[in-house]
Order: sequence, then C-alpha cells, then structure tokens
Amino acid sequence: MEETKTVGQLVLVATPLGNLGDLSRRALELFREADVIYCEDTRHSRVLFSANDVATGRRLHSLHEHNEAAQSEQIVARVRAGELVVLISDAGTPGISDPGGRAVAAVLAAGLTVTTAPGPSAVIAALSISGLASERFVMDGFLPRKSGERRRRYEQWAKEERTIVFYESPQRVASVLQELAALFPERRVVVARELTKLHEELVRGTLYEVASIFAAREVVGEIVVVLEGKSFDGQVDDNTVVAALHEQWNDGASTRDAVEYVAETLGVSRRDVYQLALDARK
Ligand code: SAM
Repeated sequence: MEETKTVGQLVLVATPLGNLGDLSRRALELFREADVIYCEDTRHSRVLFSANDVATGRRLHSLHEHNEAAQSEQIVARVRAGELVVLISDAGTPGISDPGGRAVAAVLAAGLTVTTAPGPSAVIAALSISGLASERFVMDGFLPRKSGERRRRYEQWAKEERTIVFYESPQRVASVLQELAALFPERRVVVARELTKLHEELVRGTLYEVASIFAAREVVGEIVVVLEGKSFDGQVDDNTVVAALHEQWNDGASTRDAVEYVAETLGVSRRDVYQLALDARK
C-alpha cells in the first residue's frame, strides 16, 4: 500500500451512499491519519466513524453550505501549515451537489495541493446500472421548484441528445414524471431509489409507464432519475401533442402560449400544433 500521508494537502474523500461496506480502505486510512476532518454534519458522520472504529477526538469540524466560505480560509491555513485535511459530505462524493467546491477552489487559488480518495456517487451509481446510453450524459442537479423554471428546463431537455440525470425528492417525483410523460411519453426512464440500501429499487420503462407506476403509490427514500435523450425519440404522434396542449391549458396558458410551448418542446411545427389546437378546441 502506498503511503497516503503527504504533507499539506486537502483530500476529498467519498463515503457510502447507504451501505457502510462501500467505504474504501484508503478512505479509512485517511480518516485515521488526518489532522482534521471536515464533515457536512458531524453528528451524521460520527455514525460512519464509530462503525469503523475511527477515534476522531477533537479532529471533527463542520463544513456546510452556510459556513463554507469561512471554513475554506481555515482549510487553506491548515494545508499551508502542512496539515492533512480531509473533507467529506453526508454521503457520496463531496463537491458534487454537496459542499466542497469552494474549499477546493480556495486551496487551489493558494497554490496548494488538492487530491481525492474517490468512491461512491449517486449520479454515477444510477447511470452505470440504468441500461441507458452512458458515453455522454448531463447531470442537471435538482429540478427548480417553480413550474415556469422547470418548464424551461424541459424545453432544454427536448433538444438534449445526451442521457439526462437528475435528483428528485420522493414527494415530487410522481408529479415530475407526470409532467415529463406529457411531453416525451416514449422516452425510456429509470428511477433509481435507495441505491446500495436494503430497499434498493430500480423502476425502468417508458416515461408513460413509469409515471403511471409512481402515480399510484407512496414514495419514500432517496432518488436519482436517469432519462433517455432526444435522439431516441420516435415520431411525435398527434395524441401526444394534444395531451401536451391540454396540460398547458389546464395550467392556465392561452392557446397562443400553449402552441408556442408545445411546438418548441416537442419539436413539432407551430402550424401543425396550431391546427391540432383548433381541432381540440372545437
Ligand atoms: N454528493 C452526493 C453524491 O456524490 O452522491 C450527492 C449529494 S445530493 C445533495 C443528495 C441526493 O443524491 C439525494 O437527494 C438523492 O437524490 C441522491 N442520492 C443520495 N444517495 C442516494 C441513494 N442511496 N440512492 C438514490 N439516490 C441517492
């Protein structure tokens, strides 16, 4: 085994998504050797340390989105003084939709060393077993709460050829799948829930199928959604256009706005959508 302790560096260490067995040997060594360990939530991470017999003493500090700027300065000072500084988040890889990025930037800006002990990440775990194209993908984080902003995101996805990965909360996943199914019913989707945990579940199918499954059940746990890109869309049929128009009308959109939005998101000519709107309104 290589010597892991090199003087003066910040190491981002990935931690398990749920299954404690996914902690790497190197992560464990770094926990034992670190001069200081920054955790998103020290109480949460103590479970991981005690399960692995890591005595943390006074080495634990918190670093979360509200104190990252101040803590980053401390980290720079420690690394400059020659300390081995470890940074973890609650689960998965720090800095990926989690605190850590500002600390990394600050240490790099000071001309000091940043390195990684890579490991679990919900995005990569879900994508790798999705069965969907994984050579090219986009990670879109959490979807916006506001429906207008979410709609703009869907307009981008209408044109996106790469596989799309995003996080979703259990409370909102059914309605988001419903919104997407109205636009791209034939695209394949995978909902990855509770990865590596006791109740791990992957629900696969077309958006139409998966949205129907989730509409009829209560959902708990942590979720990553993996959605097929545009290149796999078939021809958009008239029923899909009309369903999307109704969705817009139900949301209070004028016929003009509904036609504009549906034409843009489904990639169908405005004239055709307008004609279908007129027929549907008869
Ligand atoms: N940095 C983390 C990583 O690399 O995995 C991601 C942090 S992000 C704030 C947390 C989100 O990741 C959760 O809301 C959920 O969408 C997803 N997630 C985390 N653990 C998961 C799991 N075991 N199964 C499915 N999704 C998970």
